[in-house]
Amino acid sequence: MKKLHTFSLADRAEAGLLKELLEREGVTCLIRNEQLFAALGEIPFLECFPELWVVDDEVWPRARLLLDNWFKSDEETVPWTCSSCGEILEGQFGACWKCGQERDA
Ligand SMILES: [Zn+2]
Repeated sequence: MKKLHTFSLADRAEAGLLKELLEREGVTCLIRNEQLFAALGEIPFLECFPELWVVDDEVWPRARLLLDNWFKSDEETVPWTCSSCGEILEGQFGACWKCGQERDA
């Protein structure tokens, strides 16, 4: 069993989503620490971060790839605002269609 990702407290809703996504791809995984939220306050804060673990080490690289793609596509669909003219653009555009300003890295 190998750890794939540690979620921040703000991202903990994502943990369940990602687990579902990976299992749809045939990757068996589990979330650790999820149930500890109920006990928050009694255990050190750091131990409460939910962790996504891949059960089978052999599929870990595949799971890693899926996760990276998932985070990447998530980023690409987030709208951004042009720093030059203030136009709001869809995440898939790399530059402003209105004034040609490149998207900030
Ligand atoms: Zn612009």
